[in-house]
Amino acid sequence: MKINVGIDLGTTNSVVATFNRAKGVVEILKNDLEKSCTPSVVCIENGIVTIGEEAKNMQAAGNLNTAAFYKSMMGEKDYTVFIDGKEYTPEDLSTEFLRALKANVEQTNNVQIEGAVITVPAYFTEAQKTATIRAGKRAGFEVLKIIHEPTAAIIAYGLTGSGKKNVMVYDLGGGTFDVTIAEVDGSKVVPIATNGNHNLGGKNWDSAIRKELIQRFLDEFGINIENHPEEYKMLQVKCEDVKKRLTSLSSTDVTVQCEGYSGKYEITRELFEMQTYNLLCETNLLIEKCFSEIGNGFGWHSLDEVVLVGGSTRMPQVKEMIQREYGKSPVTKNIDVDTIVAAGAAMQAQLCTDDVLVLGGATGEVPPVSLRGSPASRSGGLVIRGSDIQDITAHSLGMLALTSDGKNYVNSIIIPKNSKLNQRFGKRYTFSGTTLEVYVLQGESKDPYDCALLYKYIISGMPEGQKNEFSVNFLYNSNGVVEVEAELDDGRSLKAEQLPVTESLSEIISRLEKEREEAKKATKDIEIIFMLDTSGSMSGDPMTQAKRALRDFIEGLDLKRMKVAILDFAESTRWMCHFTDSERELSNAIDRFTVGGPCGIGTSAKPLSTHGNDFNSKKASKVIVVLTDGEWFDQPAEVKTAITLKSNGVIIYAVGFGKADEKFLSQIASEKGSRKIDLSKLSSTFKEIASSIATEI
Ligand code: AMP
Repeated sequence: MKINVGIDLGTTNSVVATFNRAKGVVEILKNDLEKSCTPSVVCIENGIVTIGEEAKNMQAAGNLNTAAFYKSMMGEKDYTVFIDGKEYTPEDLSTEFLRALKANVEQTNNVQIEGAVITVPAYFTEAQKTATIRAGKRAGFEVLKIIHEPTAAIIAYGLTGSGKKNVMVYDLGGGTFDVTIAEVDGSKVVPIATNGNHNLGGKNWDSAIRKELIQRFLDEFGINIENHPEEYKMLQVKCEDVKKRLTSLSSTDVTVQCEGYSGKYEITRELFEMQTYNLLCETNLLIEKCFSEIGNGFGWHSLDEVVLVGGSTRMPQVKEMIQREYGKSPVTKNIDVDTIVAAGAAMQAQLCTDDVLVLGGATGEVPPVSLRGSPASRSGGLVIRGSDIQDITAHSLGMLALTSDGKNYVNSIIIPKNSKLNQRFGKRYTFSGTTLEVYVLQGESKDPYDCALLYKYIISGMPEGQKNEFSVNFLYNSNGVVEVEAELDDGRSLKAEQLPVTESLSEIISRLEKEREEAKKATKDIEIIFMLDTSGSMSGDPMTQAKRALRDFIEGLDLKRMKVAILDFAESTRWMCHFTDSERELSNAIDRFTVGGPCGIGTSAKPLSTHGNDFNSKKASKVIVVLTDGEWFDQPAEVKTAITLKSNGVIIYAVGFGKADEKFLSQIASEKGSRKIDLSKLSSTFKEIASSIATEI
């Protein structure tokens, strides 16, 4: 029989479950040892893969070809373990484990598994989630979806078909801790806050015991077990056993052996709890963080139910802490902390294929998990739809951005944490290039160095030679994995290509800085052509005042962003200087102006028609400033040219005094760009134009 399953791929144990549609119940698929939980331990020897209990026994016997707890390192590019003569990444080990688990469960239950919903800690990052998806695919599953472990637990536990309640799932597994608070309303599940630590779980409690035993053995025999890999592996397994015994006993003895020496030590629960108190406090801090993220005074008092999930919640200290803080007991009755996550994943697998799930089915039979309140029997078949189950993201998503003062690179958050999945968040751009580089970051901090650098996206396809307005849309898809799309304002979609990041963040930032500097050097933001009338009527005081005004104008410009060229016109035209940002060059050019020089004294030059297009850079904003004191010989031709120039984006200021034609000035100038003034106002007028260029362009 072909089936879909839910898999709780745990740090310590994994569980496979399926939803029996006919009966409307979840069935846990046992392994060949008739167990629900299969230890997530892998042993590879001579290419033969062994998993589960057998591999765990090999680990306990000190076999160095075994690997456990690799889930904690999932997605870490540089972490590998060397077994059976080969390097294995956590993704490789998960692949081997899942492939063997699939074969085992298929054979034991006489089924053929096709699709799988795999659970991951809510706090898993992008790299960890995508590595899990890849491992599932490589192991031969069609990965229907990945869902967060606490959300899976709520699906299996919380759907009662009656009333609205706030449920907290406290999930302390073997290697990870997650806390999720959700609103459950009938068949609807809406998580509202989630936090976690993917390096905090039962193994940290084991470590506390291991540390104590290593120290006692060192004190007694002067031997450090950490230097003996086989004995160290055996001790790891022993410590987990001691921890589990302390769940029901107040003290227990343990024998440690190394180099032929043997020591017997007593560990009390009191000492164990004292030495692990800080770990418990860490989980409480993450709960408090959820409360403050929800805000509005949300706290323990706002919770209707607290559900414990994960093998480590069996430790009495966990229940005691919840009892202390919450004032009530957590829900434990009829919940199997080991299988509830897989059960929720199995229900989700059913929703992935049929989009509807009937708990209790036609018979009204009660699912084997989620017995509390007997939802199905009460409602006689509670109907759940795919859209009833929502999820949120545990990490903010941002992009590398430059602050507006251009001084620092920051993580500019686009999707805040605790946002619903499948929701688009757009970022608008006005950009004159054709390709844009976007670096996507995951994390809460403004400082990009505190965040994970996920991807580089190249957005391309923008039309050339114009300012393009477009949006880049960021999304966490239903797997909680990042997707990026881009489209122009007119609806045309742009290419958004995801590329792996090959540089470190500091390399990227210093490269971007360098590129910015070079671009600044290569192209000034603004190019200005100053056209000065030197016809006969300008002689004497007008020329003296014009030179002064031109100097004041140059002084008012920000030459770091601008280049200026100066044109002399009368009967003909002449460049006094080409585009430059050198104040000295400009000043020398101004000094050289005379009336009746090489350009003659008449007015027949057409400066706009002959030089109005002589800009250097395509990218820079283009400005022409004209100063004249009389009528020009062919004003209609110049008006025509000015109209074309303006329609191509050139901004024209036209200033006149004396006999200048006011109408002509306003015809050639851009809107609000013409001024007919008194000679005495020349300097102040040019200062004003300089400041308007600096601030408005
Ligand atoms: P999970 O990842 O949910 O399977 O949880 C596995 C973790 O639960 C491991 O660290 C186990 O050592 C721990 N665990 C299982 N049973 C007990 C127990 N009786 N007392 C304390 N810890 C336990």
